[in-house]
Amino acid sequence: MNTCELCNKTDENLSLREATHKEYGKKWVCQDCWTKLYDKNEMVAGSSSGGAVAGCAMGCPGCRNA
Ligand SMILES: [Zn+2]
Repeated sequence: MNTCELCNKTDENLSLREATHKEYGKKWVCQDCWTKLYDKNEMVAGSSSGGAVAGCAMGCPGCRNA
């Protein structure tokens, strides 16, 4: 079961992304919240750019885009 740490949406098929929030630190968030954080520039710059994510457990959106 995956739960978004921002909106608390829960679904076993929910795809979560790791976001480093400027205030709250690392959070696993749903795609909607990730996009909102990105749009509002509330993520720490650089944490999600540059291709492969170090320590990724496979299957993250970054992997699919590679
Ligand atoms: Zn969410």
